Amino acid sequence: PEVAALVAGASIDVPDFPKPGVVFKDLMPLFADGAVFRRVVDAIVAYHGAGSFDVVAGVEARGFVVAAAVAYATGAGVVPIRKAGKLPRKALSASYALEYGEATLEVHEDAFVAGHRVLVVDDVLATGGTAAAALELVERGGGEVCGFTVLLELGFLHGREKLSPRTVHALLTV
Ligand code: 5GP
Repeated sequence: PEVAALVAGASIDVPDFPKPGVVFKDLMPLFADGAVFRRVVDAIVAYHGAGSFDVVAGVEARGFVVAAAVAYATGAGVVPIRKAGKLPRKALSASYALEYGEATLEVHEDAFVAGHRVLVVDDVLATGGTAAAALELVERGGGEVCGFTVLLELGFLHGREKLSPRTVHALLTV
């Protein structure tokens, strides 16, 4: 099957999580299935091309899983983009609005080597706030964003538009 069909088949709709009215897409079954996970990682590598990026930046926490696998498969490094307050050394931070309140992502200020090509990955693109903050951190940190991939894009939330003119690669858009 196509990788999009594999992603669709390995996600579970969870109604009313994390709050009433939201249907959360649970991708844990995708990570747990070795054959599907390998196809997903291979598809990401094939799309961008092994050797086209120096490091893979993953967004906490499910992005870490994808980032580490893509990096290992290609010999690239991994940079974790973390939730606020987790990093031990001086960090850059970027905040973004949530429906109620705001959230902050951080990365060590020396995490990126100037000019390094950075592939940014996460599991799901929803409203795009998380991705916009992550991409901003890479750029402020001196990395060159060379791609952004998610396993699943929730198209009806229009996150892609928030990231324009940057492009989004999604294995599956619903
Ligand atoms: P956004 O900032 O685009 O609204 O939300 C994207 C972030 O929240 C991603 O880091 C993603 O892991 C998480 N997220 C939002 N909605 C979902 C969902 O339905 N399923 C999963 N697995 N993660 C989600």
